[in-house]
Amino acid sequence: MTTAQATSNPSGDLGMAHLGQIIAVASGKGGVGKSTVSTNLALALAAQGAVVGLVDADLYGPSVPGMLGIETGKAPTMSPAGKVVPAIAHGIKVMSMGMLTDDDKPAILRGPMVTKYLRMFILEVEWGKLDYLILDLPPGTGDTQLTLAQAFPLTGAVVVSTPQDVSLKIARRGIRMMEQVKVPILGIVENMSGFTCPTCHEVTHIFHQGGGAKIAESLGVPFLGAIPLDPAIVDCGDEGRPLVIAHPDAPASAVYREIAATLSGRVKAAAGIPTPFDWQWADDTSKPKPSADPAHAGGAAEVPVMLDRRDGRTLTLRWQDGHDQQIDVRDLRLACRCAACVDEMSGRAVLVPSTVPLNIVPTRIWSLGNYAIGVSFSDGHSSGIYTFGHLRAMLAAEVEDV
Ligand code: ADP
Repeated sequence: MTTAQATSNPSGDLGMAHLGQIIAVASGKGGVGKSTVSTNLALALAAQGAVVGLVDADLYGPSVPGMLGIETGKAPTMSPAGKVVPAIAHGIKVMSMGMLTDDDKPAILRGPMVTKYLRMFILEVEWGKLDYLILDLPPGTGDTQLTLAQAFPLTGAVVVSTPQDVSLKIARRGIRMMEQVKVPILGIVENMSGFTCPTCHEVTHIFHQGGGAKIAESLGVPFLGAIPLDPAIVDCGDEGRPLVIAHPDAPASAVYREIAATLSGRVKAAAGIPTPFDWQWADDTSKPKPSADPAHAGGAAEVPVMLDRRDGRTLTLRWQDGHDQQIDVRDLRLACRCAACVDEMSGRAVLVPSTVPLNIVPTRIWSLGNYAIGVSFSDGHSSGIYTFGHLRAMLAAEVEDV
């Protein structure tokens, strides 16, 4: 199985169907609030009625047990099947290195051991049937993250960043890395974005505003929301009762819930073309079927209801709102935003159009979750991910050109 197929066809093929949608929460560096986001997000999904598991994959500095008030350092309970029984906290199931070691004895693990432990945390735990398994990844964009992304059929990744430029640049690098291993980016969360006054609850922006949204737009990935800086989040983390449980009325709790709602909508089968698919362009094998729900007035702009090959050089899309779009396949290649085609720091185009053969064609087009396609081309290029938002924006650009 190729990595692309693994990600477009989550969990099922690898005997992991009981784990549901596996969502990784990543950040370029530590301290940006990744574990806090993972924990509150898991609880917000559970509050919607989902069965949720949370893996604290930060083996070196496990903070999730503390945030959820889980006792640490005890030998784990084993199930009759010889699997570890996860802790249950505020209605979610949790596995963390902190449950195996004492707080004051940090795990000393080398790269391959990290992957081994994580495999164990995912596969050797009595999770039961989950709707979502949230992986709180270790910070950074190194080998561990790469290995993880490749070893598990992730539905996608949520990238957490703070609003400072340097943090956003690191987040951009993380996103590029995920894209290269074909892990769909479900979106960017900007954390500690503005300050919530503890008395009047008004949010004041102390850093620049909108950096996360801008980066998301420039990379063609969704922006999921901005969580304000709130001193109550720190207290809740220390007391083992995360914000969405302790202060459901706080502005940040509302953002966590919105992010959970957006994510569950995004990973659930949208009314568009059925996924997964892996379409061979040359002979049309496994072309995606049209949606059972046809285009209609008031339909969504970024949900395709049909994907077709008008001729060998033209990809046709019909959107749920009834708009039809024809994309020349060379234009599709030129629109690629992967790290090899667009400079990751400046956002400037690296791809020189004259190097793209005039007769280039796609070889395969495959689904990535329900919000993007991956395309491999006859020039060997296959790292591009085209979100439906990006493809739809190409239609808007066409209209402006006229
Ligand atoms: P990471 O997992 O990225 O290392 P943590 O989730 O452990 O980061 O958060 C680091 C610290 O920042 C913790 O003390 C946490 O309580 C605090 N924190 C996280 N998000 C916020 C926020 N929005 N407002 C205030 N403090 C926050």
